[in-house]
Formats: sequence, structure tokens, C-alpha cells
Amino acid sequence: MNAVDINRNDELRDLYRELILDHAKNPRHFGKLANPTHSAAGINPLCGDKLHLYVHVDAEDRIDNASFEGAGCAISVASASLMTDTVIGMTVAEALDYFAAITRRMTKSMPAESAGIDLGKLVALDGVREYPSRIKCATLAWHALNSALHERGATVTTE
Ligand code: ZN
Repeated sequence: MNAVDINRNDELRDLYRELILDHAKNPRHFGKLANPTHSAAGINPLCGDKLHLYVHVDAEDRIDNASFEGAGCAISVASASLMTDTVIGMTVAEALDYFAAITRRMTKSMPAESAGIDLGKLVALDGVREYPSRIKCATLAWHALNSALHERGATVTTE
């Protein structure tokens, strides 16, 4: 199954193209989790991105596994892949801090250097900020994570 629509490569020119395309073509942690403790769905109607996120939190409140299914543009799939890669091993509190940092950074309300959090590979998504319509693609997985960890369970939508 090819989850990725990569017909819009031109927009990816400045967006850490290689890392993003790698994660888009070969998403990490793609598939259903057998025994999730938390899950949420996310949709971005503007672009048509859809995903379902599964998270397993252990007894110490640590995310010991996460995965996602869905289909969407390269940025949405790559972001979900990077997100799951990033949060596995974090406590729920740490993951929520990351969610807050990423969403603030994407909306440019936070300078790049002052995150107070090492965003690691996630800086690959910085280029998206130059394309406002794609910010929702990049943050969709993070909004789903936030919803799942708060056990809202409902579908989050970017609209
Ligand atoms: Zn998208």
C-alpha cells in the first residue's frame, strides 16, 4: 500500500527534502498497534490528509510504542513518521511538551533557538512554515497525539 501522494514535489524543494521524502516513502511505525492504550484520528480536510494514531503507555506513564495508519501528502506522512519516532520512549508529560513546542514553532510564535527543547530531526519541518497551507499537514499527527494522550478519543480536524 502506498500511503503517499508525492505529486507535489515542487513544494518540497526547501523542506529538508531528503529527510522528509525518506520518511514519506518509508514511514516508520506505520500500521496498527495491537494493544493501544490511547488512540485518536486526525483529518486535514484542506489537503485530504487522514491518519489514525495508536499509542501504548506503560505503567510508568512512558510511551513505549506508537504507530499510525492513514494516507495523505508527503508532509503529513513524514511528520507522523517523525512524530512517532520522536515520542517513543518519552513520558506522556515530555510528549505533551513537545506537542506544545512544535505547534508554537510551526506558527512562528516561538524563535527557532528558544524552544527550550531539543527538537532534533523535527527541525526538518521548519521549511513548512513558509507554506502556511501546509502547516496543518505537518501538525496533524501532533494534534492527534495531543488528543489521544488526553483520552479525548474523538477525531481531530484542522478545520
Ligand atoms: Zn497535507
